[in-house]
Amino acid sequence: MISMRRTIYRRIAVIVVASVVCASALFTALLYREIVNQVHDDVDSRSLLIAKTLDQIDANQAQQAQAQAGGNRDVLPTLTRLSATSATYRITLIAADGTPLFDSQATVATMENHANRPEFIAARATGAGQATRFSATVGTETYYSAKLLSNGNVLRVAQTTRTIYGVWLRQLPWVGGVIIVVLLASLAVSRRLTRSLVRPIAAGAGSAKGEAIVYEELAPYLAQREAADKIRRQFSANVSHELKTPLTSIVGRAELLENGLVKPADVAGFGASIRTEGQRLLELIEDVMRISQLDEDSSLRMQTFQMSGVIAEVFESLADKARRAQVRLINGDDELEVTTDRNMMFELLYNLVDNAIKYNRTDGTGTVTVRTEQNMTEAGLTSPVIEVIDTGIGIPEEDQQRVFERFYRVDRSRSKETGGTGLGLSIVKHLAGQIGAEVELQSTLGQGATFRLRLT
Ligand code: ADP
Repeated sequence: MISMRRTIYRRIAVIVVASVVCASALFTALLYREIVNQVHDDVDSRSLLIAKTLDQIDANQAQQAQAQAGGNRDVLPTLTRLSATSATYRITLIAADGTPLFDSQATVATMENHANRPEFIAARATGAGQATRFSATVGTETYYSAKLLSNGNVLRVAQTTRTIYGVWLRQLPWVGGVIIVVLLASLAVSRRLTRSLVRPIAAGAGSAKGEAIVYEELAPYLAQREAADKIRRQFSANVSHELKTPLTSIVGRAELLENGLVKPADVAGFGASIRTEGQRLLELIEDVMRISQLDEDSSLRMQTFQMSGVIAEVFESLADKARRAQVRLINGDDELEVTTDRNMMFELLYNLVDNAIKYNRTDGTGTVTVRTEQNMTEAGLTSPVIEVIDTGIGIPEEDQQRVFERFYRVDRSRSKETGGTGLGLSIVKHLAGQIGAEVELQSTLGQGATFRLRLT
């Protein structure tokens, strides 16, 4: 047995974790793109602004004829002042040959030549250049925006932000927190959900008519159960009825005997009919018990065996009966090996051959043949086909479907005379279902019947 609450909870948990993780990843990605665009715009405009300022200072100094060509030495105090206002940005001034002249976060003397940096090369070539460099180890990325100054030097502003992965990593504790909270909430939800789901089912199970069905999804199952219940009720009623008839006749005859109302010459005949009726009762009880057993237990014991052996055993069991009915049994076996439940196969054939004898004519035959046939559904495979053919009275077309029903008999008086219970073919149908075989019936009234069993 599995717990519905646990199943629901497990499903909800998977959905919760997956959706929170996906949602946080998606939101991070969307937000990150926004932030990165903003940072780039910001760094670009700051770079442009500082470059303009430096150019302006340069121009003023040139006007005053105090400029030192290519030096930019007098802008350094301005740069230092600008840098002091914000630690977020790194400001670097690079000479036309790539030598760093100023850096707000490092000592210029220890810095390597910047001539090969992409943003520097681009700025020298086109006036402006940008580049982004990642540091996988600390989960950061740095955006560089460089501008060419009118004196040939390059001004570069940079800002370092976390990479998208870094941002998301920092969010993980929050994501975990949300997951825990939602999981706790869904524990309560699954408990309530289970309770409210089960309540209508339990109510539906309680009412035989099923008025309490709340879920339309349950309707087919309840209908199925109701049909099975109906068959079971009908079966019980039929069994009682079938038991009553022979018992009434037994009790009636016994009473006559008891009261000395039977002529001595007839006593033996009365005894014989009481025995016959008693015999019938026993057969009926055996069949009913077999059906109940089949209804309850459906375990198969698979075996590989020769069909000829089973057929021979069935013939042997029914030899007396066949002799009395003057029916010849023919084993048309063709060395076929099958794998299925051997006892069930025996019982199945026993019932069919029993009928082939009972509903035959004097000097008729009952034949069992086996062969293999191409499998209809799977090409290349073959299925064993077993046929029980008789030369008897046959079954009218309109009854052919119904003979497999419990207690259905084509001709009640004839069946009674032959000692039939009306359960044989329903047992056959049942057994065939269990071993995964199909049963077909072909018959022409007055010319015999063929029951075909196709194993899969
Ligand atoms: P029963 O115990 O009466 O034989 P079955 O379920 O075996 O019950 O068969 C149902 C009815 O089908 C029988 O009463 C009979 O009328 C008909 N029937 C079964 N087998 C044959 C057959 N081989 N030939 C003709 N009629 C048959």
